[in-house]
Amino acid sequence: MLSTQQVSKRYGDALALDAISVEPPGGKTTVLIGPSGCGKSTLLRAFIHLIPVDDGFVRFGGDVVSAANALEIRRRVGYVLQTGGLFPHMTVRRNVTLMWDHLREPDPTDRLQYLCSLVHLEPTLLERFPAELSGGQRQRIGLMRALMLDPPVLLLDEPLGALDPLVRAELQQDLREIFRKLNKTVVLVTHDLAEAAYFADHVVLMRQGKLEQEGPFRDLLDRPATDFVGQFVTAQRELHRTEADQ
Ligand code: ADP
Repeated sequence: MLSTQQVSKRYGDALALDAISVEPPGGKTTVLIGPSGCGKSTLLRAFIHLIPVDDGFVRFGGDVVSAANALEIRRRVGYVLQTGGLFPHMTVRRNVTLMWDHLREPDPTDRLQYLCSLVHLEPTLLERFPAELSGGQRQRIGLMRALMLDPPVLLLDEPLGALDPLVRAELQQDLREIFRKLNKTVVLVTHDLAEAAYFADHVVLMRQGKLEQEGPFRDLLDRPATDFVGQFVTAQRELHRTEADQ
């Protein structure tokens, strides 16, 4: 469904993506993980041409992604940002149905009702503005908006990164259930190893714009491909241990 072949992206002298080739498996959840600045968000955005690449190809459903087909491809992709990315001057209902209305789809009532129940959102919140919601509610609505057109692919950029631990844990559970139920091709960015373990059918570990290791999560622990993978895993485990001790 979605792949990159030898994709590179430069910012001045810095290489944000360095000849990276990945193909997230269809119908599964792939987690992009790695230290801050390793290129995770750049790769996610390159999938849908939010960032045009300098070299290589991005493919979506067999087509090479370019400026010419980017808009059409984005309609087949749900995209969730860390902060929800909702328009502040529009009600939740308007935020969620914007593209639906633009594409002149039929009455959205049934779809909204289904999505409210899927993401566990009280339907009365549809009439509120984003500022009148909690961070967790905003993320649930961001997810609703991403799912509104029932896209086959869902991209999520640190969707839980801005939430406090309790809300985060609850939303983690709901998200995993939703991913399993819907069978979409999901790519989720995180810098947190525990979160990767929780979600991933397939992990892509990046470092300095390159792919360091990919495969089942367990392989990172049992069969680290490089010294860096071993160090990354150990450092994250130490971090969680320190947090647990506090
Ligand atoms: P991650 O998501 O893994 O934290 P990013 O994809 O955001 O990493 O960034 C990868 C690299 O590209 C970093 O070194 C970052 O500073 C750089 N970068 C990202 N966006 C820009 C930009 N718009 N201009 C210049 N450098 C950028």
